Amino acid sequence: AGSDANADLKALIRTIPDFPQPGIQFRDITALLLDGPGFAETVDRLAVLARPMAPDLIACVEARGFLFGAALAKELKLGVLPIRKRGKLPGQTVGVDYALEYGTDRLEMHAHDLIPPRRVLIVDDLIATGGTVMATAELVRIQGGEVAGALFVVDLPELGGADRLRQAGITVESLVAFD
Ligand code: AMP
Repeated sequence: AGSDANADLKALIRTIPDFPQPGIQFRDITALLLDGPGFAETVDRLAVLARPMAPDLIACVEARGFLFGAALAKELKLGVLPIRKRGKLPGQTVGVDYALEYGTDRLEMHAHDLIPPRRVLIVDDLIATGGTVMATAELVRIQGGEVAGALFVVDLPELGGADRLRQAGITVESLVAFD
Protein backbone atom coordinates (compact mmCIF):
# COMPACT_ATOMS: atom_id res chain seq x y z
CA ALA A 1 0.00 0.00 0.00
CA GLY A 2 2.93 2.32 0.77
CA SER A 3 4.33 2.37 -2.73
CA ASP A 4 0.84 2.81 -4.24
CA ALA A 5 0.31 5.83 -2.05
CA ASN A 6 3.70 7.23 -3.06
CA ALA A 7 2.74 6.70 -6.71
CA ASP A 8 -0.43 8.73 -6.03
CA LEU A 9 1.68 11.51 -4.55
CA LYS A 10 4.08 11.36 -7.49
CA ALA A 11 1.13 11.87 -9.85
CA LEU A 12 0.45 15.20 -8.08
CA ILE A 13 3.92 16.53 -8.94
CA ARG A 14 3.99 18.25 -12.33
CA THR A 15 7.02 18.47 -14.55
CA ILE A 16 7.54 21.77 -16.31
CA PRO A 17 10.29 21.63 -18.93
CA ASP A 18 12.85 24.40 -19.34
CA PHE A 19 12.02 26.30 -16.12
CA PRO A 20 13.66 28.48 -14.85
CA GLN A 21 16.10 27.96 -17.70
CA PRO A 22 16.53 25.71 -20.73
CA GLY A 23 17.37 22.09 -19.90
CA ILE A 24 15.92 22.11 -16.37
CA GLN A 25 12.97 19.78 -15.69
CA PHE A 26 11.23 21.68 -12.93
CA ARG A 27 9.36 19.39 -10.50
CA ASP A 28 6.47 21.55 -9.33
CA ILE A 29 4.75 20.74 -6.03
CA THR A 30 1.95 23.36 -6.27
CA ALA A 31 -0.69 20.82 -7.44
CA LEU A 32 0.21 18.63 -4.46
CA LEU A 33 -0.25 21.63 -2.14
CA LEU A 34 -3.67 22.35 -3.68
CA ASP A 35 -4.85 18.80 -2.93
CA GLY A 36 -5.94 18.61 0.73
CA PRO A 37 -5.80 14.81 1.13
CA GLY A 38 -2.61 14.64 -0.94
CA PHE A 39 -0.89 17.29 1.17
CA ALA A 40 -2.04 15.61 4.40
CA GLU A 41 -0.80 12.23 3.15
CA THR A 42 2.55 13.79 2.22
CA VAL A 43 3.02 15.24 5.70
CA ASP A 44 1.92 11.97 7.34
CA ARG A 45 4.50 10.06 5.28
CA LEU A 46 7.22 12.59 6.07
CA ALA A 47 6.39 12.11 9.76
CA VAL A 48 6.80 8.32 9.46
CA LEU A 49 10.28 8.85 8.00
CA ALA A 50 11.16 11.59 10.49
CA ARG A 51 10.30 9.82 13.77
CA PRO A 52 13.19 7.28 13.69
CA MET A 53 15.64 10.16 13.20
CA ALA A 54 14.53 11.42 16.64
CA PRO A 55 14.78 15.15 15.88
CA ASP A 56 13.94 17.80 18.45
CA LEU A 57 13.76 20.69 15.97
CA ILE A 58 12.85 21.09 12.28
CA ALA A 59 15.05 23.32 10.10
CA CYS A 60 13.48 24.20 6.78
CA VAL A 61 14.84 26.05 3.80
CA GLU A 62 13.26 29.13 2.21
CA ALA A 63 10.81 29.05 0.54
CA ARG A 64 9.14 25.76 -0.43
CA GLY A 65 10.83 23.95 2.45
CA PHE A 66 8.81 26.15 4.85
CA LEU A 67 5.52 24.65 3.63
CA PHE A 68 6.46 21.06 4.36
CA GLY A 69 8.76 21.77 7.31
CA ALA A 70 6.18 23.76 9.29
CA ALA A 71 3.41 21.22 8.64
CA LEU A 72 5.73 18.39 9.71
CA ALA A 73 6.79 20.28 12.83
CA LYS A 74 3.14 20.64 13.86
CA GLU A 75 2.60 16.90 13.32
CA LEU A 76 5.65 16.08 15.48
CA LYS A 77 4.94 18.88 17.99
CA LEU A 78 8.40 20.36 17.33
CA GLY A 79 9.60 23.90 16.77
CA VAL A 80 10.80 25.35 13.46
CA LEU A 81 14.14 26.94 12.57
CA PRO A 82 13.72 28.91 9.34
CA ILE A 83 16.84 28.90 7.16
CA ARG A 84 16.69 32.09 5.10
CA LYS A 85 18.35 33.70 2.15
CA ARG A 86 20.72 36.58 2.82
CA GLY A 87 19.39 39.72 4.48
CA LYS A 88 15.90 38.54 5.50
CA LEU A 89 16.35 37.93 9.23
CA PRO A 90 16.10 40.99 11.48
CA GLY A 91 18.41 39.94 14.32
CA GLN A 92 22.09 39.09 14.54
CA THR A 93 22.72 36.35 12.00
CA VAL A 94 25.27 33.69 11.14
CA GLY A 95 25.57 32.53 7.56
CA VAL A 96 27.22 30.13 5.15
CA ASP A 97 28.06 30.96 1.54
CA TYR A 98 27.44 28.23 -1.00
CA ALA A 99 28.01 27.80 -4.70
CA LEU A 100 25.21 28.08 -7.22
CA GLU A 101 25.52 27.18 -10.88
CA TYR A 102 26.47 30.82 -11.47
CA GLY A 103 27.95 32.67 -8.51
CA THR A 104 27.18 32.15 -4.83
CA ASP A 105 24.36 32.68 -2.37
CA ARG A 106 24.19 32.82 1.41
CA LEU A 107 21.95 31.00 3.88
CA GLU A 108 21.43 32.53 7.29
CA MET A 109 19.90 31.83 10.69
CA HIS A 110 19.73 33.86 13.86
CA ALA A 111 22.77 33.50 16.06
CA HIS A 112 22.12 31.74 19.40
CA ASP A 113 19.05 29.80 18.14
CA LEU A 114 20.85 26.48 18.74
CA ILE A 115 21.86 27.29 22.32
CA PRO A 116 21.43 24.86 23.96
CA PRO A 117 22.34 22.46 21.12
CA ARG A 118 19.45 20.69 19.39
CA ARG A 119 19.07 17.63 17.18
CA VAL A 120 17.95 19.16 13.91
CA LEU A 121 16.08 17.57 11.01
CA ILE A 122 16.55 19.50 7.75
CA VAL A 123 13.47 19.56 5.48
CA ASP A 124 13.11 20.82 1.91
CA ASP A 125 10.73 20.10 -0.96
CA LEU A 126 13.43 18.65 -3.21
CA ILE A 127 17.07 17.60 -3.31
CA ALA A 128 19.00 18.09 -6.53
CA THR A 129 22.78 18.59 -6.20
CA GLY A 130 22.55 18.78 -2.41
CA GLY A 131 24.34 22.14 -2.23
CA THR A 132 21.52 23.85 -0.36
CA VAL A 133 21.28 21.18 2.32
CA MET A 134 25.06 20.78 2.67
CA ALA A 135 25.21 24.51 3.44
CA THR A 136 22.31 24.18 5.89
CA ALA A 137 23.99 21.25 7.64
CA GLU A 138 27.22 23.25 7.90
CA LEU A 139 25.31 26.15 9.45
CA VAL A 140 23.61 23.85 11.99
CA ARG A 141 26.94 22.29 12.95
CA ILE A 142 28.80 25.62 13.18
CA GLN A 143 26.11 26.69 15.63
CA GLY A 144 26.65 23.60 17.76
CA GLY A 145 23.61 21.64 16.58
CA GLU A 146 23.56 18.00 15.59
CA VAL A 147 22.08 17.00 12.20
CA ALA A 148 19.44 14.31 12.82
CA GLY A 149 18.92 13.82 9.09
CA ALA A 150 17.60 15.36 5.90
CA LEU A 151 14.11 14.76 4.54
CA PHE A 152 12.59 15.62 1.15
CA VAL A 153 9.39 15.13 -0.76
CA VAL A 154 11.32 14.70 -4.04
CA ASP A 155 14.77 13.26 -4.78
CA LEU A 156 16.51 13.66 -8.15
CA PRO A 157 19.03 10.81 -7.63
CA GLU A 158 20.86 11.39 -10.91
CA LEU A 159 22.05 14.76 -9.61
CA GLY A 160 23.84 13.00 -6.75
CA GLY A 161 22.71 15.17 -3.84
CA ALA A 162 21.47 12.34 -1.63
CA ASP A 163 24.72 10.41 -2.16
CA ARG A 164 26.71 13.53 -1.32
CA LEU A 165 24.81 13.98 1.95
CA ARG A 166 25.22 10.31 2.88
CA GLN A 167 28.97 10.57 2.24
CA ALA A 168 28.96 13.47 4.70
CA GLY A 169 27.38 11.16 7.28
CA ILE A 170 23.84 12.52 7.01
CA THR A 171 20.81 10.19 7.02
CA VAL A 172 18.68 10.97 3.95
CA GLU A 173 15.06 10.02 3.22
CA SER A 174 12.59 11.10 0.54
CA LEU A 175 9.11 10.12 -0.64
CA VAL A 176 9.39 10.04 -4.44
CA ALA A 177 12.21 10.03 -7.00
CA PHE A 178 12.37 11.30 -10.56
CA ASP A 179 15.07 10.13 -13.00
P1 AMP B 1 20.23 21.71 -4.69
O1 AMP B 1 20.90 22.68 -3.79
O2 AMP B 1 20.91 21.57 -6.03
O3 AMP B 1 19.99 20.36 -4.04
O4 AMP B 1 18.81 22.32 -5.08
C1 AMP B 1 17.77 22.21 -4.20
C2 AMP B 1 16.92 23.45 -4.18
O5 AMP B 1 16.63 23.96 -5.48
C3 AMP B 1 15.60 23.10 -3.56
O6 AMP B 1 15.25 24.13 -2.65
C4 AMP B 1 14.64 22.98 -4.72
O7 AMP B 1 13.42 23.57 -4.38
C5 AMP B 1 15.30 23.69 -5.89
N1 AMP B 1 15.39 22.87 -7.12
C6 AMP B 1 16.53 22.42 -7.70
N2 AMP B 1 16.28 21.71 -8.81
C7 AMP B 1 14.94 21.68 -8.95
C8 AMP B 1 14.03 21.07 -9.91
N3 AMP B 1 14.48 20.36 -10.96
N4 AMP B 1 12.71 21.23 -9.71
C9 AMP B 1 12.25 21.95 -8.66
N5 AMP B 1 13.03 22.54 -7.74
C10 AMP B 1 14.37 22.42 -7.87
